[in-house]
Amino acid sequence: METITYSLKNGKPDSETYYKDVSCFADQVIKEASSSISPIIYDYLNYIKTYNLEEIRKIEEYILELLSFGILWRTYAGRALSVKFAPFIVMAKMSEWRKKHQRIKPVIDFGRGILMTLFLFPEVKLIKREIPTLEQIDHVCKWFEATGEFKEQAIRFIRWRAFWGNKSNDELYKIFFQIEEFTNWFDEASINNLGKYTENVDSFLKKSIRKYRWREDRISCTRSRIEYHLNMVGAELMNRAFRPEFKKTEIKVVLVPGCMRGRPDEECEAVRVKEGLICSNCIPGCRVNQLRKIGKKQTRGNSFNVYIIPHASDLSLWSPREGKPKRGVVASACVTTLVEGGWELKRYNVPAQCVLLDNSGCKKHWHPEGTPTNFNINELKRRAFQVSENWKQFKLENPLRDQRVYDQTK
Ligand code: SF4
Repeated sequence: METITYSLKNGKPDSETYYKDVSCFADQVIKEASSSISPIIYDYLNYIKTYNLEEIRKIEEYILELLSFGILWRTYAGRALSVKFAPFIVMAKMSEWRKKHQRIKPVIDFGRGILMTLFLFPEVKLIKREIPTLEQIDHVCKWFEATGEFKEQAIRFIRWRAFWGNKSNDELYKIFFQIEEFTNWFDEASINNLGKYTENVDSFLKKSIRKYRWREDRISCTRSRIEYHLNMVGAELMNRAFRPEFKKTEIKVVLVPGCMRGRPDEECEAVRVKEGLICSNCIPGCRVNQLRKIGKKQTRGNSFNVYIIPHASDLSLWSPREGKPKRGVVASACVTTLVEGGWELKRYNVPAQCVLLDNSGCKKHWHPEGTPTNFNINELKRRAFQVSENWKQFKLENPLRDQRVYDQTK
């Protein structure tokens, strides 16, 4: 199968090795964080407690927030700071409207693509990467929100920025220097640990970057290699942090992207409901259909329903409802979009887990004809079912067994 940017299988029959690698690397990230940025995090937790700003979350979430800040600052701040004027508020609102109004999404996206290139991507950008000032952080966060790609990160950075507002210049210098050092470490270590899964990213960017000019998916399809690694580790850290809440839920649902379907959009006979689409079993060989059957076959407590959801859909629909049991959501998407979705589900108080697509391939964003996408069913079991959460103690099943389950369902 053609690898467009990344492949979790990396030439192997399945992505089991990837999940071991990313788990080990996430352990390294946590260890490194504890010797570098942990004083910043504990200081921040005291600030949160003092002002009662939120219930303290798991430490993995704060590590991910600071790592995201370091990487996104490095990747986008020069560009964002070069923008002196842009319709930031209108653009941020447009990215919300496209989620709420799926019918007019193509029109909104057409407008966003043009506005993004006209205003958010100036030809000349600042090259110099500097220790940020608080005013610069404010400006870059506005840019992040306007892109529609980093809204969740911006919400979290704005809270960090409020905390940094209480610090002296000397303290700020030390904080940003430490984040920069941690980001440098991650840059190098992530290539060594995860680089084999993202070998095609740079050549894809070289070949295709011009194609995305004027398109609304300009940012999500032109992410740098370090951002792929950030999102890979981010998915792992989120799963660890969100797992205890997810385990308490009585009902599980699995959200899959449309590109996993066995037939093109116009031929798929899935039924539209408020939350997305439900497979109606039109062809047995379709992966979504197979997954749906697997979900139904499970014993009580382990069964799940499958919904097909379009890219950038309204995730608030999964929020807990009064008088109804809380739903645990396992979301699947490609590396460039999954983490943003995970933060969004968290904001809507939805206990979630995530499983990455083994590769990207949808026709709309990545490939002229589209290439089939899939995810690792063993990883789904580990995330959705009541099995040990500790990877190292969990005895892996033979991946072939899953193939047999698929075959039996045909
Ligand atoms: S089997 Fe289900 S998801 Fe697959 S193409 Fe048919 S209706 Fe759509």
